[in-house]
Amino acid sequence: NKFQELGLNSSILKAIEDMGFKSPSEVQEKTIPILLDEDTDMVALAQTGTGKTAAFGFPLIQKIDPKSKHTQALILSPTRELCLQITNELKNYSKYEPSLHPVAVYGGASITEQAKQIERGAQIIVATPGRMQDMIRRKLTDISKIEYCVLDEADEMLNMGFYEDITAILSHTPKEKNTWLFSATMPKEVATIAKKFMRNPVEVTV
Ligand code: AMP
Repeated sequence: NKFQELGLNSSILKAIEDMGFKSPSEVQEKTIPILLDEDTDMVALAQTGTGKTAAFGFPLIQKIDPKSKHTQALILSPTRELCLQITNELKNYSKYEPSLHPVAVYGGASITEQAKQIERGAQIIVATPGRMQDMIRRKLTDISKIEYCVLDEADEMLNMGFYEDITAILSHTPKEKNTWLFSATMPKEVATIAKKFMRNPVEVTV
């Protein structure tokens, strides 16, 4: 099984087996060893359906400290559906790491309920930019100590007009973190975000 050669730990390998993944997809093969090994920023050009959620999800789950309850990673994604999908995938990946709690934060649902979940300890927050900005404004979340930030479907988020929200959210995160940007395309706006918020990102294309 080629997943074993990527450097993933046994609890993730067990979860992979349970999910029935037989071998890593191209984007997973290219990103996972780098993200596990190096503290680096990354720009990955990958379409949906290529397995990109696991490409950032496996390394994230392995690098996060499940014993510490504070928020260590923020994933921004364009829609509520995608937010929930990513959160579910992360729960599957971390099923043998029961103290790890990914929490979904998105509009159109109770902000109080989401804040409660965060308060119980959410090492990973998966959020849409609008609701996340709202949460920060109301001081319902603290992302000042995150170590990882994933911008998923960055082109879509910018198409939907989230530039201001993303910029505002990132201004609440520490400078010393790693940012992993995933996008299907690389329009000017995405390049601008990468240039503004990332340092020497490794570039991966599939
Ligand atoms: P994504 O591109 O992350 O939306 O993933 C698309 C679908 O492929 C999801 O349902 C994943 O659970 C599944 N998937 C991801 N990686 C693999 C893999 N290595 N083998 C089989 N299925 C996978």
